[in-house]
Amino acid sequence: MTKRSVASKKLWKIGAEEFNTQYFDYNKDGDLIIKEGHNIYNVRYMAEKFGTSLEILMPFVIEERVEDFLDLVKDLSKKVKYQGKFFYHYPMKVNQNKEVVMALVGEGAHLETSSYNDLWLVKKMLEQETFNPNIRILCSGPKTDKYISLIDDLQHKGVKIFPLIEGPNELKFLQFSKYDVGIRLDMPIKASSYWNKPIDRFGFSAKEIINMGSFKNLKILHYHIGSQIEKLSDVIGPIKYALDVYFKIKEKNPSLDTLDIGGGMPIPYMRNKSYPVDKLMEKILKLIKHESEKRGLPHPNLVCEWGRYIVAPAQISVFKIIDTKKIANKKSPAKKWYVIDGSFMNDLLDTWAIGQKWAISPANNKHDANLNEVWLAGSSCDSDDIYTGVHGSVTLPDYDSSSGENMYVVVYDTGAYQDPLAAHHCMLSSPLKLIIENGHIVVARKRESPDDVGKNFGW
Ligand SMILES: *Cc1c(COP(=O)(O)O)cnc(C)c1O
Repeated sequence: MTKRSVASKKLWKIGAEEFNTQYFDYNKDGDLIIKEGHNIYNVRYMAEKFGTSLEILMPFVIEERVEDFLDLVKDLSKKVKYQGKFFYHYPMKVNQNKEVVMALVGEGAHLETSSYNDLWLVKKMLEQETFNPNIRILCSGPKTDKYISLIDDLQHKGVKIFPLIEGPNELKFLQFSKYDVGIRLDMPIKASSYWNKPIDRFGFSAKEIINMGSFKNLKILHYHIGSQIEKLSDVIGPIKYALDVYFKIKEKNPSLDTLDIGGGMPIPYMRNKSYPVDKLMEKILKLIKHESEKRGLPHPNLVCEWGRYIVAPAQISVFKIIDTKKIANKKSPAKKWYVIDGSFMNDLLDTWAIGQKWAISPANNKHDANLNEVWLAGSSCDSDDIYTGVHGSVTLPDYDSSSGENMYVVVYDTGAYQDPLAAHHCMLSSPLKLIIENGHIVVARKRESPDDVGKNFGW
């Protein structure tokens, strides 16, 4: 390995398990490569062959992450003598692309749907017999009449499907269901996460649920306080609270046997360390065990719905720099604009919507001796279509678009939420999507033509 590639790896935090970048490396020519066992994929090669903007999905990363996670819980349950069962449910809204969902299900994930249309996909796959009928489905999101009747339909067919009651209208329909249901607790303990609102519109307070008395088939107590919860104490506090409620309602609802702690496990987008998953999971299992034994009651089954944590690192987005421009203002932390052939507002919408930060590195880095501080701009005509980095700028190799060579940049961890949120501002086409696995490179979604995009707008 050359000195230069060692320096590049360090600078862009490539090859580090704690940041989920162990799949990446720089080769001796300064090209970013992706490693799957002994298979290697060259990112610059894929960008040149298939064109940019480009998304590269790595199902093997999803598979490895689910498998590691399920193994971890199994080992920890044994270690701490936790007797409840554990179910991992993938929330489909995080990324419902077929190749993502199938990779998860293939490793033993159960599913959580957020809408009638989500559940429709599940029904389709059950009919095509591409799912094991023992798969468990949780249904959250507002239950429209259509959603309820599809749940009903699947329950009749013997599918293990559990609607989670989140509002008064749903309560009316489902409280006396002859099938199993769950109920959502509106958690009064708040976490520092972008999504954790001071007043949540979903679920019922502890008092309300306790006063509801006895349900016919209440199985699950569920809550979800937000995504990307970065403090360990913000995860543990709500579990304690929910356990207290769980045991109170169990008195009148002996069928209750499962606690569902929702989503929240974070991803180190900004490449700073967070709490490790094994430490958190051990704490959770010990806490539930302790609280149950204190009351002389059996350990509940545990459900968790961490979608972002599993799928974000499984995709990267690759863009070409199509223009550069000096930033005249001397006070600016960035010296140049790099214009990409994709769009932050369209392809990585959270950049604009919630100020999401990303790790970014060059895909080809021949002349990395000179680094520059830059801002990135998307190809829409919108002045908001920019990304200014974690600390005010992005460090990339210096590049001049008149040099005749191409420069590509990679945005990491784009596998969660960005595809479902994608838009077509300025009629731009979405990135082409590649799947790489077992040495194959497959085009999963072609680049949209102007006609394809136009169809969305009635043309
Ligand atoms: C969005 C959502 C999740 C996903 O949480 P992440 O931590 O972002 O994966 C889980 N459960 C419910 C009910 C959700 O609405």
